[in-house]
Amino acid sequence: MLKRPPAWVGFLIFGMLFVAVYLRLPDNVWGMLAWDGVAVAGAAAIVVGIRRNRPGGAAAWWLLMAGQLANVAGDVIYFFGPESDDPVHPYDVPYLLGYVVQVAGLLILLRRRSAGRDWATLVDSLIITSAFALLSWVFLMKPVAEDASLGLVGQIMAVSYPALDLLLLAMVAWLLTADGSRNVAFFLVAANMVVFLVGDYFWSFANQTHYDPGTLGGRLIDCAYLTGYVAFGAGALHPGMVEIGRPAGSERVRPMTLRRLLLLTAAALIAPALLAWQAYHDGGRVLDAYAIVAGSVTVFLLVIARMTMLVRQVQAQAVVLEKHADLFREAAQLDPLTNLPNRRAWNAALPSALQYAARHGAPLALAVLDLDHFKAFNDTHGHQAGDRLLTAASAAWSANLRSVDVLARYGGEEFAVLLPGATTAEVTGLFERLRAVTPMGCTFSAGVATWDGVESGDELLARADRALYRAKDAGRDRVVSDDVLPAA
Ligand code: GH3
Ligand code: MG
Ligand code: MG
Repeated sequence: MLKRPPAWVGFLIFGMLFVAVYLRLPDNVWGMLAWDGVAVAGAAAIVVGIRRNRPGGAAAWWLLMAGQLANVAGDVIYFFGPESDDPVHPYDVPYLLGYVVQVAGLLILLRRRSAGRDWATLVDSLIITSAFALLSWVFLMKPVAEDASLGLVGQIMAVSYPALDLLLLAMVAWLLTADGSRNVAFFLVAANMVVFLVGDYFWSFANQTHYDPGTLGGRLIDCAYLTGYVAFGAGALHPGMVEIGRPAGSERVRPMTLRRLLLLTAAALIAPALLAWQAYHDGGRVLDAYAIVAGSVTVFLLVIARMTMLVRQVQAQAVVLEKHADLFREAAQLDPLTNLPNRRAWNAALPSALQYAARHGAPLALAVLDLDHFKAFNDTHGHQAGDRLLTAASAAWSANLRSVDVLARYGGEEFAVLLPGATTAEVTGLFERLRAVTPMGCTFSAGVATWDGVESGDELLARADRALYRAKDAGRDRVVSDDVLPAA
């Protein structure tokens, strides 16, 4: 048996079938009823969605639903109401109220989604909206704002629609740019908003330019609006709708994507493009100089604000990276078991010690230590006990060295010591102390060599190593010097 599809899929399929039927309905009361029927069904789907999915901040969804119903009320009054030449029509009230309610709903949703810290995307959407505001002013608002024949109330009414469209645009741009979950529900709801805005702007510009899309063209645009209603209803039924109003994870820092950069660039270029267009058309005269100045100043300041945010973000990241780099640098020089300088650190310390000795004419002794029968210790007491011995011996030896001495773990159970400025007598005394403090009854053998003033670090180390082998051969638990003692 086939599994029943989820409610949102069913709603989407039936809704889209109905939209296809609507395309062929006559342009009369039946067409109007079908249109608003879809809008009401969409609103009902939102109610069911709210009850089923129980989103946080449900008020946002109730407001969005109310906005949709207000549109239906406007349509009904528009269709059945008396025709009049009054500047304010009864249908203006629900239409304008619908906008306000929808903007309020989106604002609640977005405040939850952005959770008070995503200022960057708010600035991005303001940049886009400011650029659009300029276009909207020049092409939609100014012509009616300057049309004295409308009367003051008529002018206010005529400007309020494009002004509210701008407000809606700001919200939708914010919704599309803000970080957060982008699931199926998000795309369905966002599609509805985008379709409405595009439709509104299309009709506004068509009215202004007296462009007639024709009966089929008009019907197709109607169908786009209806698809928006259906998408919204389906989106609200989708269980993922609860995610839309949830903040994005706090850890994520959204990088500036190329797409967003292009979008912001395009927005910033609108004012100069408009300037060039007007100057070109009017032989160097610019009709909307002040509006263009205001538009470009606003966008410019917003872009600067956005750049400041980016710079701060980069600086904050640089501090974190610097801290990590310090930790890595430190870790790269230390042996993790004993916390002694490792072979890498030793390789850096040896040449410096030679240089220092050469410059000051000071003696420099180098010793190589190797624990005796360490393999047997491991075999008897276990590898972990062997580790503890290595750690304990390192700590005990370090405590008996001077601060200028360098004790490094050369590898395995082998250690190397640099003793700058130490005389032969001091070296002898030191090794007596080290043998006395070696823990867990363990012993070590060591080979010592004093720098002859000309040999390389490698040669000095090789001599100490040879001495170590002699110490091992001689029965272990002893210190052998490779130095040819000056004749007494
Ligand atoms: P000798 O007296 O001749 O130096 O004999 P030895 O057993 O000490 O020397 P050998 O080179 O035969 O064995 C060294 C052992 O050290 C073998 C290896 O498993 C052990 N070893 C090396 N690194 C570590 C370590 O980090 N932890 C532990 N527990 N053992 C280690
Ligand atoms: Mg050993
Ligand atoms: Mg060894």
